[in-house]
Amino acid sequence: MKNSGGLLELKRMNRAHIKKMIYQKAPITRAEVAESLNLALPTVTTSVVDMLAEGILCEQELPGWEASPQGGRKPLALDFVPQAAYAVGIELGPYGTTGVVSDVRGNIIARSKSAPASDCYETMLSQVGEQIRSLLDGTPREKVVGIGVGLPGFIETQQGVIRFSFREDWNKHILAQDLADALRLPVVIDNNVRMRVVAEEMFSHLWRPDVFAYYFISRGIACPVMMKNGVWSGYTSGAGEIGHTIVQPGGPKCSRCGHHGCLDAVAGENAILKKCEKACAVGQTPILQSLAQKRPLDLTLAMEAQELGDEIVCSIFAEAIKYLGISLANTANLLSPGLVLVDGYIMRSTQNQEMLRDIVSNYLYGLNSDEVRIEFLPFDQYRGARGAAGRIIKKFWIQ
Ligand SMILES: [Zn+2]
Repeated sequence: MKNSGGLLELKRMNRAHIKKMIYQKAPITRAEVAESLNLALPTVTTSVVDMLAEGILCEQELPGWEASPQGGRKPLALDFVPQAAYAVGIELGPYGTTGVVSDVRGNIIARSKSAPASDCYETMLSQVGEQIRSLLDGTPREKVVGIGVGLPGFIETQQGVIRFSFREDWNKHILAQDLADALRLPVVIDNNVRMRVVAEEMFSHLWRPDVFAYYFISRGIACPVMMKNGVWSGYTSGAGEIGHTIVQPGGPKCSRCGHHGCLDAVAGENAILKKCEKACAVGQTPILQSLAQKRPLDLTLAMEAQELGDEIVCSIFAEAIKYLGISLANTANLLSPGLVLVDGYIMRSTQNQEMLRDIVSNYLYGLNSDEVRIEFLPFDQYRGARGAAGRIIKKFWIQ
């Protein structure tokens, strides 16, 4: 009995490794899987045959393969059927709640955006539940493996608890359990930027090194780090909160951490907007003022004024980007990541991208700009929700 239990466990582990390898390296042949994992070909074949029968794998002729002059059979390569499973991803962002249903390859089959969730925990819970139910309308329920929820703040993922968020009423609640009870599906919650990193690691078709940093600029700023297929959590799972490191002692007070001069308070989107509003109110920004006569003053408008050369608005952006660049260079000096992905609305502007690159390269120590590659991600409001779905695919379907 003991031996058969051991064999079953071995088979389960082999299958998990094989699945992961195919997910990462597809299209891949059975022989390549066996060689990469140092397994016997019949062992790989046993698992593959099972998965083919379950309909989650498909086997097709290797793309781009050319027959040798002697002919011979074309090798067959394995890949997953994208519609084999689905996951829901939700991002409870400061500007709204975005939600997606994604297949195993990150293709979005349903999406929705609603107003920012209520500050009241119970109301938020029913709002999110409602949004998920309507997202899942039409998706085969038996193929849905779970729900991922990303939100700003300090999240204890293992326990599913919101330890600290800027919506006080949400704090200390076991959101993962409450949602799982309401929707009868497994739920994982985590910091929203950490969820974004997962989307990059799993769904990007571009090269990503083992260690990369994800620099996120929104109302708050965060920089989680991916280390060998896992987001570095730190001792308390709060790693990556660069937004609350002090960059200007005695500077403006942060409403989140309560300290003066943290990066959020100096260079976050709210900080930029507040400075623009103040300058606009005292008549220092002629271009912004004329734009603001027709539309409400928001970040998009401020960026337009910057583009059009409004001097004070330009200097406000330049000051914020100076601090962002310094903190990014500090991160690179501390961790030496092979790549830094920058994700943020204000970085839609190539002018801002160049400014950030220049400042980072000024403050690198012993590293050059080629060694610290910076890549700007195109702005996508569903990126966080897609990452949350990716986290579920990874946890409940691949592993
Ligand atoms: Zn702060």
